[in-house]
Amino acid sequence: MPDVITLGEVVVDIFASPISTPLKEATDFTIALGGSQANVAVTLTRLGATAGFIGKTGADPFGERFMELLRSEGVDTSHFTQVRGSPTPVAWVDASDPKNVDFIFYRGASGELAPDDIDLAYIASARLFLYNSVTLTGGSREAVVHAVRLAKQNGVLVSYDVNYRAPLWPDRAEAQQRIREGMHGADILKANEVDIELLTGTSDLPAATRWLLEQGIQLCLVTLGSGGTYFNNGCAEGYVPAFQVDAVDTTGCGDAFVGGLVYGLLGTSLELPTLDEPTLRRLVRYANAVGALTATGMGAMAPLPTRAKVDAFLRQQQEG
Ligand code: ADP
Repeated sequence: MPDVITLGEVVVDIFASPISTPLKEATDFTIALGGSQANVAVTLTRLGATAGFIGKTGADPFGERFMELLRSEGVDTSHFTQVRGSPTPVAWVDASDPKNVDFIFYRGASGELAPDDIDLAYIASARLFLYNSVTLTGGSREAVVHAVRLAKQNGVLVSYDVNYRAPLWPDRAEAQQRIREGMHGADILKANEVDIELLTGTSDLPAATRWLLEQGIQLCLVTLGSGGTYFNNGCAEGYVPAFQVDAVDTTGCGDAFVGGLVYGLLGTSLELPTLDEPTLRRLVRYANAVGALTATGMGAMAPLPTRAKVDAFLRQQQEG
């Protein structure tokens, strides 16, 4: 059984080609395979951990492709299924303004996960269970809430990745309320600058993360792109700078960061509130390296680094 289980969606991302073309004007397109929690699972297996993915996709050629891809990456697909009558999810991505990437989502089979699909023995066997806020917006919400509850009841550490995608919510107020409800049961919370403001109502990171700790989160991570990462577990807090790289496309950096962080955590006691500052800095630095390397290639999944690549990068940083 895998050490880490992620639950979420696979998505075929369709980009305009060249990527700077607005969707409204685009005639040529290129695709990339992704989906936040699938990206995290692949990061973990590339680093050498064991990971399984719970989700649904279509019984169509893209569904086949995802199944083959995840298997070839060594991700356990025993709870990833193809369903008839519901297509593989697709997102049209407008990346013409890199600071404000827009998505048009076709949810398809990703909304088909039901509480009955959640296998108690599978969840209970893991050391960590990971989910994100995107899956709370569709038909699979109850399945996510159920899975988090089972993980908690069975002593599995729970990690929540806030991924605010405005087009998936009726309005900002509802997004805030539901994303807050969604953190119930989570031990680890990862958010970026936009997410943290929505979730806590402030961009003052010490204040925002203190509020999250009061709500029961044990380890908060706020990623700031090339600005690095802020961490707070109530015992230690601070910034770890990002590595300087020639960034090509930052899609999936947050997923890579989560994969790198969870990989590092597997080597600790998992007693989150007692992790001291040197340990947290070491774990966040490693996760920053996984994120930075992911920024150096196109798409989310393809550039996710192997452990050997991360180790070589960190050695080079030390020497340089
Ligand atoms: P998200 O994809 O969730 O918005 P971020 O863009 O903040 O996440 O990226 C996650 C982490 O990846 C950052 O904390 C940083 O360590 C690394 N990273 C992202 N973009 C860059 C970049 N341009 N240069 C170096 N590191 C980066």
